[in-house]
Amino acid sequence: MAKVAFLGLGVMGYPMAGHLVKKGGHEVTVYNRTAAKAEQWVKEYGGRLAKTPKEASAGQDFVMCCVGNDDDLRQVTTGQDGAFAAMGKGRVFVDHTTASAEVARELHAAAKSGGFDFVDAPVSGGQAGAQNGALTVMCGGDAEPYGRAEPVIAAYARMCRLLGPAGSGQLTKMVNQICIAGLVQGLAEGIHFARRAGLDVEAVIETISKGAAQSWQMENRYKTMNAGKFDFGFAVDWMRKDLGLCLDEARRNGAPLPVTALVDQFYADVQRMGGGRWDTSSLIRRLRDH
Ligand code: NAP
Repeated sequence: MAKVAFLGLGVMGYPMAGHLVKKGGHEVTVYNRTAAKAEQWVKEYGGRLAKTPKEASAGQDFVMCCVGNDDDLRQVTTGQDGAFAAMGKGRVFVDHTTASAEVARELHAAAKSGGFDFVDAPVSGGQAGAQNGALTVMCGGDAEPYGRAEPVIAAYARMCRLLGPAGSGQLTKMVNQICIAGLVQGLAEGIHFARRAGLDVEAVIETISKGAAQSWQMENRYKTMNAGKFDFGFAVDWMRKDLGLCLDEARRNGAPLPVTALVDQFYADVQRMGGGRWDTSSLIRRLRDH
């Protein structure tokens, strides 16, 4: 059992912090910018509520965090009343935000100079993965502090792995998003084609999902795509942020991402259609509207 703080009780953070209590048996302190969510969390799980990231982080063995983007992350770590001002020597800050590799390297260096450690640890598995404690956690940083953090992360992870030095977790999450983007567009085109061809979409997918076309997206999204339901899941606005990170990184490392760049523009179309909060499988709506 450890003393753990969790910063950011959003769609992902709220259930993740809950697993630290229920599954991990840890002593948990929470901080959320909108205090009402933190009050609700404490009512549900017990634990302690802090008014700032700095207050939450004082005296903790581990500080976990899951906020929106690079700027939000800088705010809760090195900003006013940020967590880094209160991190004890030898302690570990674990960041689950999907952010840039650059900010991960910057915060890793800042942590080192303050005598503590930073692990970038973005997640995959969505809201359901967070609620079921079955996330995939992709980590970057140093082996020793990672080794200490891994059993704590295990409270909400099905798979957790150190993939290299600082930033490697974020780079791996980019690979994850690159692999998903083109695949979802392919699935959208396939389902749309099947309808235009007059086929029974359910029968088609049930058949081809037993063959080489099978994917997580196909198994988990084809029914809702066919029914035109998108008010759940991983929001298009978040996907555009993530694809922006991939395209920025690719400009630096020279990897061509033609399909990812194109699908990013398709998601911009979905945003213009009012679908910023729709699930990423809403790419099929573009085809129907065209
Ligand atoms: P969310 O529901 O919008 O929650 C964001 C959290 O960050 C909220 O607690 C918010 O506080 C806090 N926050 C944002 N900016 C802040 C700031 N400047 N200072 C302090 N707190 C701030 O988002 P989410 O869906 O949990 O996603 C969180 C991260 O996980 C994102 O990087 C996302 O890309 C990634 N992710 C999400 C999913 C998914 O399926 N949702 C899957 C994988 C990865 P308030 O309550 O005050 O707004």
